[in-house]
Amino acid sequence: METILGIDLGTTNSEVSVIRDKEIIVVEKDGRKLLPSVVGVDPAGNLLVGHTARNQAILYPERTIKSIKRLMGENVKVKLGNREYSPPEISAMILKTLKTNAEEILSQKFSKAVITVPAFFNDTQREATRLAGELAGLNVVRIINEPTAASLCYETDPDSNSTGESKPETILVYDLGGGTFDVSIVRAEAGVIEVLASHGDTHLGGDDFDQLLFDHVCDNYKKLTKVDLREIPVAVSRIMQAVEAAKIELSTSPFAIIKEEFITGRDGLPLHLEMEIDRGDYERMIFHLLDKTIACLNEALEDANLRPSEIDKIIMVGGASRTPLIHELIENRMGMTPHGEIDPDLCVTMGAAIQGGLIAGTEVGRVLVDITPHTLGIHVISDENIYHFAPLIKRNTPIPCRKSDVYYKTFKEQKTVAVTIYQGEHNDVRQNMCIGEFWLEGLSVESASPEILCQFDLDINGILHVTAIEKSTGLTSEIVVENALSAREHKANENFKNELKQLFHENDEAALVSEVRVSKDDKIEELSISGVDDLLLSQLNQLSSEQYATYSEELKTVRKGLKMLGGNLKTNTEDVNDSIKKIMAAIQQGNKETAKKLSAELDDLLYYLDDSL
Ligand code: AMP
Repeated sequence: METILGIDLGTTNSEVSVIRDKEIIVVEKDGRKLLPSVVGVDPAGNLLVGHTARNQAILYPERTIKSIKRLMGENVKVKLGNREYSPPEISAMILKTLKTNAEEILSQKFSKAVITVPAFFNDTQREATRLAGELAGLNVVRIINEPTAASLCYETDPDSNSTGESKPETILVYDLGGGTFDVSIVRAEAGVIEVLASHGDTHLGGDDFDQLLFDHVCDNYKKLTKVDLREIPVAVSRIMQAVEAAKIELSTSPFAIIKEEFITGRDGLPLHLEMEIDRGDYERMIFHLLDKTIACLNEALEDANLRPSEIDKIIMVGGASRTPLIHELIENRMGMTPHGEIDPDLCVTMGAAIQGGLIAGTEVGRVLVDITPHTLGIHVISDENIYHFAPLIKRNTPIPCRKSDVYYKTFKEQKTVAVTIYQGEHNDVRQNMCIGEFWLEGLSVESASPEILCQFDLDINGILHVTAIEKSTGLTSEIVVENALSAREHKANENFKNELKQLFHENDEAALVSEVRVSKDDKIEELSISGVDDLLLSQLNQLSSEQYATYSEELKTVRKGLKMLGGNLKTNTEDVNDSIKKIMAAIQQGNKETAKKLSAELDDLLYYLDDSL
């Protein structure tokens, strides 16, 4: 049985894969699965395809050809060195390189391929692609749409209903690559995938984000040094690479540092470049472009005559679709979390290989990826909610993974923060499962910067390393949560056991006892408190001396309430708890008047309850 290559011939990058022993293998050459779709000739006239061609593109644009896909189907010639080529001829050089790489890595000859094209390609563009394949020595057994390939990749094992028939699905494929964007709506039924609508912008992609970052860096550098780096070709090439790396870093970190030593010179002295880019600033820079993609998405929905609720699944394709803000915008618009767990750079080539397997009659297994089944994050106090859950690693993220974000101290004098780690999907931590907690103590009170960086590292075995770092001083604290992925089940069982005990009136004090510090003057009071949630206790621990002084009367009442809860109070415990929480919230918000009023009400209640004990 002949193996058919699956090829994604992209505008920026191209990839090739095959099915072997039911599994999809993406060809990797020199540790890289992506081959830049760039062709060039070096000064000696040798042909360059891929990384080497891309690396020389900025220095020798006259000897390099990028984005040839945009010209496919047009009756034009492009100049390379001292010869002219048609777009299919240039594309054939990329395809031939992919074929040769596959043969070398897999030690097998290939003569057939399935090649993908954008859904909006017309017949002439498709024919030009077929011709490119033939010029490269490949029999192109089928040309398929990129969104179709992506859907196949997510659909190798379609759900079946009770009669064994596959269930039809409407899928939205959002594809944002380096230089092009398209969004398609497809209908998949019994292995047949039909494109219902497709919209896009052939000049919008991650490269535009790089350009905006590049301008930002050059403008700021010029302000600081009066040197315009845009005029220095070597500097341009280095900064272009650095901003792309920074952009990728910003997909997982709240800031990225661009550092290029000896970027240029002035008066015989070297000049360096060092700049920090904040994710918030970057997102403001690219927002108008992302907004355009959402407008295209709306048009595609309109064309297909569908409402967001009629879409069953959203698939994210293309390297730039990893940008977290895009996921957020799509989730807001569509009311569902998009899928990006299968590598968005590779799912089109993998889908093409699956199609090749189906044509050849090869058995194809499901595409398997290790993902986190639950969202992991921390508790933060926000303006709206003192129990706010801030997710770091979202559900369905492939593992291993690393994500970090920045948080702020509540007030300048704060010397300690509690990092409480939760697992779950609710935006209120109380509805999620606490899986660990640690403290970052000894924070600087002098530093003007209140930023605390929190980093989650989740490995393939479900071991989660959480690190908290005070950005201004480097002060670090960390914890390892041994089984972050299945801890939920364990915790849920424990909770249920406790619930059951209460239902059967077994008063298991030990399980409900917490140790708490409620005094700031170093006098530690140990209280046995049943029914008081840990959050409240950790909030008390975090109060500053200033807050203790300002709210001493209110805190006296809070303490009295806590003591009664820990004592023999059997009725109205929820009212007392609730009232304490409200007072604490008012203290956190700095609302003295409300805190005072609430504490007077609690005092009255406690007086009444004390009497009835
Ligand atoms: P593609 O054309 O699908 O290969 O996508 C390439 C584009 O994706 C380039 O602009 C890359 O810089 C961009 N890209 C790759 N990885 C990431 C990432 N993690 N976050 C944001 N952009 C990325």
